Amino acid sequence: MFRYHESLKDAQPRPLWHDPEIMPAKMSELASDTTCELLIVGGGFTGLWAAMQAKEHNPDIDIILVERTFIGDGASGRNGGFLSTSLAHGEANIEAQFPGEEDQLELLGRQNMEAFLATLEKYGIDAEYEKTGETTVALDVESAERLHHEYLNYEGESDDIVWFDRQAIREQANSPTFFAGLLHRGGQDGVIHPGRLCWGLKKVLIDNFGVRIFEDTELLNITPDGQDVMETTCSGGVIRSKKVLLATNAFTSKIFRIRNSVVPIWDYQICTEPLTDTQLDKINWGKPGSRHAFSDDINMFHYFRLTKDNRITWGGGGAVRYYFNRGIDMKLNDAEAQYDQLATEFFEMFPQLENDVKFSHKWGGIIATSTRFCMVPGVAYGGRLAWSVGYTGHGVGASRFGARIGLELLGYNPTDVIKMKFVTKRALPWPPEPLRWLGIHFTQRALLKADEQGGKRGLWLKFLDMIGLGFTC
Ligand SMILES: Cc1cc2nc3c(=O)[nH]c(=O)nc-3n(C[C@H](O)[C@H](O)[C@H](O)COP(=O)(O)OP(=O)(O)OC[C@H]3O[C@@H](n4cnc5c(N)ncnc54)[C@H](O)[C@@H]3O)c2cc1C
Repeated sequence: MFRYHESLKDAQPRPLWHDPEIMPAKMSELASDTTCELLIVGGGFTGLWAAMQAKEHNPDIDIILVERTFIGDGASGRNGGFLSTSLAHGEANIEAQFPGEEDQLELLGRQNMEAFLATLEKYGIDAEYEKTGETTVALDVESAERLHHEYLNYEGESDDIVWFDRQAIREQANSPTFFAGLLHRGGQDGVIHPGRLCWGLKKVLIDNFGVRIFEDTELLNITPDGQDVMETTCSGGVIRSKKVLLATNAFTSKIFRIRNSVVPIWDYQICTEPLTDTQLDKINWGKPGSRHAFSDDINMFHYFRLTKDNRITWGGGGAVRYYFNRGIDMKLNDAEAQYDQLATEFFEMFPQLENDVKFSHKWGGIIATSTRFCMVPGVAYGGRLAWSVGYTGHGVGASRFGARIGLELLGYNPTDVIKMKFVTKRALPWPPEPLRWLGIHFTQRALLKADEQGGKRGLWLKFLDMIGLGFTC
């Protein structure tokens, strides 16, 4: 029997965030033909933030939002809740993909984060935001050296970066696998409760702005009708609108123009029951000032954090999967081998909790991964149809900005932002199957091998680095 069977056996197969106690009732499905000015397809962060920003700029816009299942059922209700300022998956990726736009993207990222948090404050949305910063831990000597080098590059520039050597990091959180740590505590990076954010936004959109939301309503087809109208066929009826914003993220495989922009990568998580003070003491994590939100400095990295009630959520690592020929089937949540693997990796990091801690939830979600490792915006039909998809594991904060870009591309309060390379540069399309599957698997194996060799990248990864594709999600 699997060694950690007992710890996982009672775990509920649903995201921790989908707590029935706080989930609102579903809105009814579309039942007849109708019209509106702006139709938003997809009830995740992108769709919700798009409706919010459109209404804040112009309360008179008549908006309908349709969602295939329920608000927060996509990545937005399944993620780790790491809220990051970066709009394009960190500095290294920005330098590689959009050279010359680093400063502007940093500024836009900060403005986006400020507006994000101000919205929560203004409408009283309690998303359990906690300003933790982000702490990367080194798991071997080579990684400790890399992080220290990074620290020296920043030192003097800002006080917002803190170096922890081996002993110091174990005083922050005690794992025998930690060699060092680097905390970026600048800005407002932190963690949130993703479900509370989804449902908080949903409530404001309905109660304050009268947005019509239809759940259990799937987009089936979109066609232009004449020069001014888009005709969108959904389960339940046809919606005629001036504009359409697609906020369908990983589920775009059915939608013509953006079909090859993203691939669905499955990422799994498990989470513990709330830890007692004694359990927290065993790992020395969670004291005021040391409630770090962690990731480890490896290619197939883990991300782990504390929730408000002191559970640890744990995701990523070797359990990340790409399934042949676009796996967007939600049955792929049933992935016992992946949950077992996550539990094993968890107890390798925190052996003090072995035979002591149980997992309460296990779930999977789809990361929409683009070849540029950040959002892919686009527009068609003379500005009547736009999209923002593919945040590649970094969309909790960036999706608000993706929504803004989508709106600007549709002609709502356009600024010079939509002239940036960040928006105009086309993303390389993913190749068709079976090349796609082969390429992703080959790369994943090369990344695992690099992790085993202290980060030393082989020829294949060096080649991908050279053509700007060597990043991970
Ligand atoms: C396991 C996991 C962990 C992650 N962790 C983090 C993290 O810690 N930090 C971070 O920044 N990012 C993280 N991400 C990424 C982040 O969650 C996403 O980038 C973000 O939620 C994207 O929001 P979205 O609204 O664009 O997409 P989604 O939330 O996926 O929403 C798309 C919605 O469109 C709906 N839809 C699709 N097709 C149709 C259709 N035809 N008709 C009607 N509706 C449709 C779907 O049902 C879905 O609700 C993680 C993702 C996963 C899966």
